[in-house]
Amino acid sequence: MALVVLPEAGMRGDESNTVTDWSCDRVRTFRRRVYSYVSDREWNSWRWQIRNRITTLSQLEKILCCADQERSVLLGKGKRLPFSITPYYAALLDPHDPAHALRRTVIPVADENLQSEGESEDPLNEDEDSPIVGLVHRYPDRVLFLVTDFCSTYCRYCTRSRMVGNRNGQKFTKERWSRVIEYIEGKREIRDVLLSGGDPLTLSDEKLEWLLLRLRRIPHVEVLRVGTKVPVVLPQRITPNLTRMLKRYHPLWMSIHFTHPDELTHEVKCACARLADAGIPLQSQTVLLSGVNDSVEIMRRLVHGLVMMRVRPYYLYQCDPIIGSAHFRTPIYKGLEIMKGLRGYTSGFAVPLYVIDAPGGGGKVPIMPDSLVGREGKTLAIKNYEDRIFHYYDPCEAVNTEIMINCTVQ
Ligand SMILES: *Cc1c(COP(=O)(O)O)cnc(C)c1O
Repeated sequence: MALVVLPEAGMRGDESNTVTDWSCDRVRTFRRRVYSYVSDREWNSWRWQIRNRITTLSQLEKILCCADQERSVLLGKGKRLPFSITPYYAALLDPHDPAHALRRTVIPVADENLQSEGESEDPLNEDEDSPIVGLVHRYPDRVLFLVTDFCSTYCRYCTRSRMVGNRNGQKFTKERWSRVIEYIEGKREIRDVLLSGGDPLTLSDEKLEWLLLRLRRIPHVEVLRVGTKVPVVLPQRITPNLTRMLKRYHPLWMSIHFTHPDELTHEVKCACARLADAGIPLQSQTVLLSGVNDSVEIMRRLVHGLVMMRVRPYYLYQCDPIIGSAHFRTPIYKGLEIMKGLRGYTSGFAVPLYVIDAPGGGGKVPIMPDSLVGREGKTLAIKNYEDRIFHYYDPCEAVNTEIMINCTVQ
């Protein structure tokens, strides 16, 4: 679909972003084509969006032309990752092109059934770092609290595919939450609690507030964080009531999962504006995906769009080796190439950190193009973003320190 570019500078204002206009157009056309009987009120209700999720092949075939690759896996039985797309997000998918970026991230293909070398159910060993069901305590001062296994839309490369969508019959009850909260109360070193899942923002305001209130009461918990894709796949969820509630629990940060500039619609822009206006610092997490966002050009458009929405690019993840994800994984050099194409060429705060979440539970390890070139006596050689070498006078010569050990004099 062609870009709809606004004609005049005079129209620059709230809606001046070309990405926005492209997507707005797409949503409007889609609604007219598929959901013409649905009122604005219903469409804009997050409850309606959740109730009307697309979860079966026959529902999907009403909105787009399925390829054999897609049809066969949706017809097949087996323990695959659940399938669900909100009608809103379905509107952003190209109905005719199975290779369309967003389409590939949410519609399964037969490759999902392949297990490749290096892949496993729980590559990050989260279950092992879980002292209590529903909590991962890997780092010294912060924990990951899995508050639900439900998402409105499931990403095909989900890092928690082993547990989402009620695959293990797990129950996320207040009793279970209470046990996690008691654990956090008992560990004074925990100063940062990250709510994740599943998607915490699919919980009702009441349940979410129940959690935030209890966590806020713990004196040593300084920062609360929510990890979510809801503002992107279900922006209708970001209601004034929700943001009014959230702002009572500051400091509250939010990590939002973005994948591609096509996601930056008018709706998403409004959702992020509400969150940012509520004083919530927004940051993005993006998974590097082959054929979806693995180019400097796409990534640059994404990060530029994000900072326009007051979202600070945070992490770019190498795709975790969960089972059936090989068709999404890029070689590491791709990620490095993208980082090299961003750093120095755009605002420093628009550049995310590229990380591998180390298999086996090592945590997130930053992967960067080398900037320390070498040392000669008291002079350190460093390389800038254009690969030009500069010298820095550093009299405190590091002898035998780990950091300098791999620096050869050049
Ligand atoms: C990512 C992650 C965190 C948070 O890490 P930050 O680098 O502080 O954002 C905490 N716990 C676990 C298990 C994680 O995977």
